[in-house]
Amino acid sequence: MPDVLIIGGGHNGLVAACYLAKAGKSVTILEAAPEVGGATVSQRVFKDYDARLSRYSYLVSLLPDQIVQDLGLSFTTIGRSVASFTPVQVDGAVKGLLIYSDWRDKTADDFRNLTGGDSEFENWKSFYSDVQKIADAIAPTMLQKLPTRSELKNAVNHQIWDEIVERPLGEVLEERFSDDRVRGIVLTDGLIGTFADAHNLAANRCFIYHLIGNGTGEWRVPRGGMGGLVKELTDLATSLGVVITTNARVVSAVRDQELWTLTTSQGERYSSTYVLANCAPQILASITGATPPESLDGSQIKINMLLKKLPRLKSGEEPALAFAGTFHFDENYSDFQRAYESAAAGVIPEIIPAEMYCHTLSDTSILSDELTAQGFHTLTLFAIHTPATLFEKDNEGAKSEITKKLLAQLNKYLLDPIEECLAVASDGSLCIETKSPLDLQADVSLPRGNIFHKDLSMPFREDGTPASWGVETEFTNLFICGAGAIRGGGVSGIPGHNAAAAILERSS
Ligand SMILES: Cc1cc2nc3c(=O)[nH]c(=O)nc-3n(C[C@H](O)[C@H](O)[C@H](O)COP(=O)(O)OP(=O)(O)OC[C@H]3O[C@@H](n4cnc5c(N)ncnc54)[C@H](O)[C@@H]3O)c2cc1C
Repeated sequence: MPDVLIIGGGHNGLVAACYLAKAGKSVTILEAAPEVGGATVSQRVFKDYDARLSRYSYLVSLLPDQIVQDLGLSFTTIGRSVASFTPVQVDGAVKGLLIYSDWRDKTADDFRNLTGGDSEFENWKSFYSDVQKIADAIAPTMLQKLPTRSELKNAVNHQIWDEIVERPLGEVLEERFSDDRVRGIVLTDGLIGTFADAHNLAANRCFIYHLIGNGTGEWRVPRGGMGGLVKELTDLATSLGVVITTNARVVSAVRDQELWTLTTSQGERYSSTYVLANCAPQILASITGATPPESLDGSQIKINMLLKKLPRLKSGEEPALAFAGTFHFDENYSDFQRAYESAAAGVIPEIIPAEMYCHTLSDTSILSDELTAQGFHTLTLFAIHTPATLFEKDNEGAKSEITKKLLAQLNKYLLDPIEECLAVASDGSLCIETKSPLDLQADVSLPRGNIFHKDLSMPFREDGTPASWGVETEFTNLFICGAGAIRGGGVSGIPGHNAAAAILERSS
């Protein structure tokens, strides 16, 4: 009988297993799918081409260096010199705003050309310098027990605490920036996978997690794709004696006489003293018979593409620069507000805000040498404010309509229409696939397609509440080790580490 059973072999379940096994615990992972990795897998999506795409998650910021060091992983990430590029239509012409990660001179020139002065770039620098104070205070606490609200507030000791934690993000962006396009670029980090108006504090929570990773908030490219991380973790777990059983969907969990017994859909039973749930809390509730937590629906479309060549841009920017960072399009602040209102009323937005990223400009190792030599690239498109409800009646029909709309929106900024750049499969179809929130539920068990399992929480506990790792449940010796824990969302390993720490603290 293992000491610990883990429901789900996503990257967080694997991180927890590695920490526990290193501390001498015996661990068995029960994974519903035929392969481990959950939303962090790399797959050969287009069978005719040797290209292993990060099919779901694609960039890394939240994974603390400490976890990589503790576990001795050789997984690495690559920085990007370009933070973002945003093409915009001005009086019939297309201009662009290229923001370098180090804000070098061209960034100031582009801000000036677009906004007509220097003030908006000054606002940008001052806002992000203030946000850095939040990152400096929060990042070092992520692998410790939850700090209290007052402890963190005192550590930040600056008005940015109220602006980012207490007051609606939309209100603050309206005060600190004046340009609709610049406000929109800043707001994107509050709306990734979060179906909220800019004035809802859910946007603040999402914003915080996008700005604090490793104390820098830098989003980096996983070398070898997301599957590289999962492979490293799986190899380590296996070498430490962790037993990984795939095609084992847990359907019930019962505790009797200090032992948990898990039953799979095939009727197999497993017992242990401790259980970790890497599955979403909503799934855990159905397994234990508890009340599921309230949560927003997932609200993003992900489109994976394989290209024969990168498209040229109407703005004249070099494709290798424009696509090297995050390529925002139709993400003005007002676009977000209109799209939210429309989608909340059950109507596909007329303009869908979206952003893209090209993995292969930073790392060609996910392509065969032959494809690289021929100039092939991958593109990932992530669209915002397309909630699960829009797909309920006709998933395939809504996907097709939204995909067409997004490609038409994108083509407004391109000299080469994107369809002409897509690789073609042997059956004549284009190498493009769209994943709706409902597909994510079916493919990787994300409830209603919520990429963070459930809504993100602030990374602290209220004053006067008991000490906690943010992983505890109402049940004895059952902890959440996945994205649904406090401080859990994203590719971070943090809840895996913290759930292992909670067990080790109790059993030592
Ligand atoms: C399209 C998309 C894009 C994203 N982009 C990014 C990004 O770029 N960067 C980032 O940091 N984050 C991103 N995310 C979020 C991130 O991928 C997730 O928050 C993270 O993968 C969660 O990891 P996890 O290990 O906690 O859970 P998961 O990856 O969801 O793994 C949970 C595992 O549990 C298994 N499981 C579920 N139910 C059962 C059961 N009953 N029995 C047994 N096993 C079960 C599942 O099959 C799965 O393998 C993205 C997510 C999506 C979907």
